[in-house]
Amino acid sequence: ASEESIVAGKSEIPSADWANNGLIRVLLLGESGVGKNGSDLCHYWKQWQSYLCGLRKCYSYEKTILMDDEDITITFIDDWKKDLSLLTFDICLLIFSLTDRQSFHYAVELRLRVREAHPQCPIILVGNKSDLVRSREVTYEDASANATLFQCQYFETSAALDHNTFQLLEEVVKRLRSTERMGLI
Ligand code: GDP
Repeated sequence: ASEESIVAGKSEIPSADWANNGLIRVLLLGESGVGKNGSDLCHYWKQWQSYLCGLRKCYSYEKTILMDDEDITITFIDDWKKDLSLLTFDICLLIFSLTDRQSFHYAVELRLRVREAHPQCPIILVGNKSDLVRSREVTYEDASANATLFQCQYFETSAALDHNTFQLLEEVVKRLRSTERMGLI
């Protein structure tokens, strides 16, 4: 059973890491328009995104979730324009839109760049906008076969309907816990 709450929006990327204090840095990568800003439980985020971004250009935001009786703070970094090798993060979500095949190809290309810069970093491939059933251009089979080929997990979400978004966050945490146990971070 999980409960969620938003704590604050932040424009600075914290330096502490997951292994030390349960803080997780998630890099969101993907073509413009695929829903990176909406990928974290859209309806909450949208409410204060305009407020924060109105004050200054913000590239990261933070959220705390309660999972297995533990508070876990996740910082999302939406900053794909920077040199990947300069960014510090614990896990990468490669997001594409299920209604845009080009964005899928772009995500696949980005995966190569992430692997080059961060060979050990866990990656999850995310097909967003699953609510737009009639405009779908990427099948579940295509995307999951690609993910299997490149040894990453695959998730389909709808940020607009909040479908599978929390499950995705849970998976991020589980994945990092297991990575940590294996001594990779
Ligand atoms: P970004 O450029 O990747 O950050 O994309 P945004 O988060 O700004 O989303 C681009 C557009 O897609 C916006 O109009 C969102 O409302 C819309 N969008 C994002 N996620 C979804 C989704 O799951 N379903 C639908 N139907 N629209 C979405």
